[in-house]
Order: sequence, then structure tokens, then C-alpha cells
Amino acid sequence: GRPPSLGGTALSAEWFERAKKSLAGGISSSSRLTSTGPDPYPLYMSSGSGARIRDVDGNEYLDYLLSYGSAVLGHAHPALTEGLARVLASGTMFGTCNVPEVELAELIQELVPCAELVRFANSGSEAVQGAVRAARGATGRSRLLKFEGHYHGWTDSLAISNRPTPEEAGPYEAPRAVPHSPGIPAGVVDDVVVCPWNDPEALKAVFAAHPGEFAAAVCEPIVANNACGMPAPGFLELLRDLCTAERTVLIFDEVCTGFRTGQGGAQTLFGVRPDLAVFSKALGGGLPLAAFAGVREVMEPLASGQVKHGGTYNSSPLCATAGVITLRHLADPAVTGRIDATGRQIMETIRRAARDRRIPCAVQGVGAMFQVVFTPDGQPTREYRDTFRLDRARYDAFRHELLLRGVHSNAYGLACWFVSAAVTDDELARTCEAIEESFAALV
Ligand code: PMP
Repeated sequence: GRPPSLGGTALSAEWFERAKKSLAGGISSSSRLTSTGPDPYPLYMSSGSGARIRDVDGNEYLDYLLSYGSAVLGHAHPALTEGLARVLASGTMFGTCNVPEVELAELIQELVPCAELVRFANSGSEAVQGAVRAARGATGRSRLLKFEGHYHGWTDSLAISNRPTPEEAGPYEAPRAVPHSPGIPAGVVDDVVVCPWNDPEALKAVFAAHPGEFAAAVCEPIVANNACGMPAPGFLELLRDLCTAERTVLIFDEVCTGFRTGQGGAQTLFGVRPDLAVFSKALGGGLPLAAFAGVREVMEPLASGQVKHGGTYNSSPLCATAGVITLRHLADPAVTGRIDATGRQIMETIRRAARDRRIPCAVQGVGAMFQVVFTPDGQPTREYRDTFRLDRARYDAFRHELLLRGVHSNAYGLACWFVSAAVTDDELARTCEAIEESFAALV
């Protein structure tokens, strides 16, 4: 039987059957296939308010998927609803320069250390592509260095070795570059060198083996897409030094960390300045908006028009206004502080509940974004291949129990929880209760 907090999900089932007849696979993004609910079909969400979302059957959930971190202020935040209503009434886009995009670029400049110049895009994938283009354009090189298990969007250039299986991953010291999907040309794959994360010796070796070759080294400073693994002390600094020595553009993919792990993102949290950074998710507060921003030297060929980047929808008044409103809130340390404190309490509750029941696990990340990993020894993961040893079935069971108690989180165990500023004390208490009960149900 289901706990009373969750009723049936029959209407989601019906919509999925209907969707499969028109949408390829019934979905609009490959990751939504894994976003199933307690039953083997995706949940159809229909509304949200603050920290809560509601499905088409009327079930309510406390939301820690949070549209992958985008709804950082909470769903239907009054400031956004009012501000965007004004834009809706006066024209959403003109395909021209506009005032809110300038205000937003200035805000990003103020908050982000590396952001000497900014360009906008509509999604994380697109902005990553823009950053890669800028790096290649500025250096005249084509090869990229990326890290196993890090995710940078679905486009060809970096959809490589996101989640290779043990069979296809190759030797640890020299991982194979494994395309994430059929349809990625061999030439693109040849241009990418893959390295294990958080391993100083492997990193030095890969730079030594490819002197002067890399246009860019790209990483997720906190690996949101690999169970929120944290950088080992000194690793980001080493990566910075090697990139400087090799005149390689260091790109931080801050699509998840940006404006969430503090005002300036991971680069201020860790005190390491990349040459370029990519933002999305929290930046748009729930609207499609992304940016890449960086130092003059790398952005200059783009500024002069020599390196090309376009986009009909880039920083439309509607989306740029959403960005301005969202960043003005996130620029207040009280807001990010609240997000962090809420998240830390949830992390601590998971740790305590697991300890009480002698279930080995680690809770890794920061308050604003974190993940629980059921490692055999209860130690955090260091790099991608540590996830081969995780008890993934236990994670799935935990997530399922939470969902039955009205707590919605990412169904993919190597992703993470995202926390909004809208969680009330009562909602936090209910979340913690659901965690306790879910652990009790696991044993
Ligand atoms: N980079 C990172 C770190 C991401 O988490 C994502 C999306 N999950 C992307 C890039 C791609 O962003 P989008 O889905 O908006 O294209």
C-alpha cells in the first residue's frame, strides 16, 4: 500500500500512453526516461508553488529535482511572476539588442570573478558549445581535455565519456574517449582526450603527453552529474597551473554550481579563477537562459566579430528579465545562505538516519546541491569509476520510498538534489521526517 501522502498516478500513465503516439519515446529529453515515479512511467507535473509541485493526479511533492536546479527561488516566485507578466504584455522578443540583457551582463560581471565579458545562449549545451568555440577560436587549437563522468550537455563536441560502462571505459590511466551516443562522428571523438578526475599524477601525465595541444580543459568543479563529487584539495589549483603553463583555456562548467554555491559560483567557493565559465539553470530562474563569460583575452575574438556565435532567442527580453530578477535575489547572501543551511540540514539528517541503521553511505556536495552515495565503506567517491562500486539498487529504493512520502528528487542516482530558497521550516521538517521513515523502510 502507498502511504496516504501519495494517491494514485493513473492520469500520468494515461498521458504517457498518449504521448508515445506523437512524441518520440513519449519524451522530450532522454533523461526523462529515467525520471519515472513509483510506477514504470514518468510523472506528469502540472503546477508548482514555492518548494512544492503537483502532478496531474493531484499528488503534491516537495521538489528537490527543482527542474535540475533552475527553480532556485522556488516555483512561481511572486517577483518573477509579476516581472514576467509585464514583459508578456509588452512583447517577449524582438531579435534585437535590449535593455535587460545589458543589466544582466553587468550583474554577472559584478558577481563572477572571471566574467570580464559575457555572451548569452538558451541552454547549458549551447553555452558550452559557445565556450568551446571561443576557446578554439582564441587558441587556434582544436583538441579538448575532459574528465570521465563529467557532463557538458548533449551536443557532439563534449558528449563523450559521460558514463562509460566498465567494459567500454578502457584503462584507468588512459581512459578511452567513448561517444555517449551513436551519431557522434569519429573525428569529433578523436579531438577529445579523457582523463580521470581528482588524480594529480594522471593530470600531469595527460598534459605531458599532449604538449601545446589542448584548446581547452573543461570540467564541472563540483561534479553535479557524477553524484556531486567534490574536488580534492589542490586539484583545481593544479589544473589551473597546468592550463596556464600550456596556454590552454580553463573552462569551468558552472551550469549547476553557478549562483547556487554562493554568489560567484564554484570559482569563488574554491578561489580558483577559470578563463571561461558557463552558466544556466539558476541563472534563468526557470526560464531557458544560459551564458558563457570569461577573460578579455579569450572573449576578444568574439567581441571583434572574428569568432562567430549567434542565436535568434539569445537573451530575449523575457528570459533576460527572468535572469535579472533571479540574480538580484541571489546576490543577497541571506538567500544563498538560507539555501545552504536548508541543504546542510537535509544532508545531516540523511547521515544520521543512515548511521542509526548502520547503512554505509556518504553524503557529498554542499548544502545547495548534494547527493547520497551508498559506497561499501561509507567513503565519498573520488572519481567516476568509484561509482561502479555503488549500491545503486539501494539508492533507487531510497528514492522510491521518499517519493511515496511526497519528496521528489532526481531518479538518476549519479545526479544530485537541488535545494531552493523557498523551503519553509515546516517543509524542511517534513522532508527530514520522510528521510527518517524511508531509511526505516529500507531495512
Ligand atoms: N553542463 C552541466 C554541468 C549540466 O548539468 C547540464 C545539464 N544537466 C548541461 C551542461 C547541459 O545543459 P542543458 O540541459 O540546458 O543543455
